This record gives sequence, C-alpha cells and structure tokens, in this order.
Amino acid sequence: MGVYPGKEKHMKTHVLDHPLIQHKLTILRDRNTGSKGFREVVSEVAMLMCYEATHDLHLTDTSIETPVAQTVSKRISNIPLIVPILRAGLGMAEGALKLVPTATIIHLGLYRDSETLQPVSYYCNLSPDIAGKDAIVLDPMLATGGTAVAAIQYLKGCGVRSIKLVCILAAQAGIEKVQSSHPDANIFTCCIDPDLNTHAYIVPGLGDAGDRIFGTD
Ligand code: URA
Repeated sequence: MGVYPGKEKHMKTHVLDHPLIQHKLTILRDRNTGSKGFREVVSEVAMLMCYEATHDLHLTDTSIETPVAQTVSKRISNIPLIVPILRAGLGMAEGALKLVPTATIIHLGLYRDSETLQPVSYYCNLSPDIAGKDAIVLDPMLATGGTAVAAIQYLKGCGVRSIKLVCILAAQAGIEKVQSSHPDANIFTCCIDPDLNTHAYIVPGLGDAGDRIFGTD
C-alpha cells in the first residue's frame, strides 16, 4: 500500500497497489465489461479495499473457551459504521459488509447537480448513537470532491469520531479538495487519475459508476 502524506501530519491518501485490486480495476475501467460483471467486481474490490482500510481497527482481549481449554483471544472493539453514498456507493456496501457483517449502515443521499456540479442532499438515515463512532464512507468515484467533503462534514456534525473514505478511483483534484477541507480524513483508493473532463468525469476513469452498477446507461 503506497502512502502519500500531505502537508500536514494527518493528511493521508493510501493507494492500494495490491495486484488483485489493480487487476480488478482494469476490468472496471474496460468499457466492454457489462453491468453484471461490473457490479460483481465493484463488490469484490470494495471488500479488498475495506480489508486494507480496516487494518488498524482496535482489538481488545477477551476470555473465551475453546472446545479444549480456556484462553484469551482478540475481538474488534470499535466496529465501524458503513456509510454508502447513494446511489453508486450502494454497489460497494455488500463487499464491505462481508468483512464487518455486524456494522450499522448509514445511507447518505447526495447527488451532484449537473449544472452547478455542487452536492445536493436528498436523504440521510441516521441511527441515534453514531456519535463517537468511526466511519467508512463508500463512494466509488472521488471526482471534484464536493460530495465527499459534504458527506464528511455531515458525519462530523453528527459527532462521528474518524472517517475513512474508500473510493475505487480518485481524481487528483478531488483528493486535494478533501484533504484541504478535512485533513484528518484518510482516503483509500485504487488509483489517482490525472484529469476531470468538462462534465467532471474522471479521465481516464471508468465512466458513470452508478449507471454501470445499476445498468441504467
Ligand atoms: N461519478 C462517476 O460515476 N464517474 C466519474 O467519472 C465521476 C463521478
């Protein structure tokens, strides 16, 4: 995993260069990958990415009985919230939940206005006890960063303690925007692409992730 610290101590972007992740990213980028395959691979990549993003979960000792003896073993003490950003983030939720099946899921509905390119909130389901928790935010594409910044702001306003943003692809501009607005957030991505086009699509990118996941293109 390549770590690219920013100017401040906590500004970190993690580029996940595991061969399985990179191979699957190529399948996602390929325009010939159909909706079924795209959806399946998004889920697989999300699981692999969340494996990397959960490497520092805190463990506590717990006393258990095996069939043979009493022993002390480890359990995760802070199961993170899983926060898919609607709609495309839903495609990553299943993969994340395979790793942390007891996680609470918070859906955040934010879309990007096609004219202003600004995030607009249209749905948020909050559990009352998310204050003090850690969150893994799922959004396959970090393009301008506007949606991610708004989502992180929202979660912080609810008292969430720490935020990891897991995006399959990130544009350099999006990373810079998130890091300057929320230097304490960690970003996990498979690749940083150089450009955004005039419609704020990542270039070379993989197209519209939501449309490809849900077959609406
Ligand atoms: N959202 C997408 O689905 N694709 C992009 O390239 C940018 C934002």
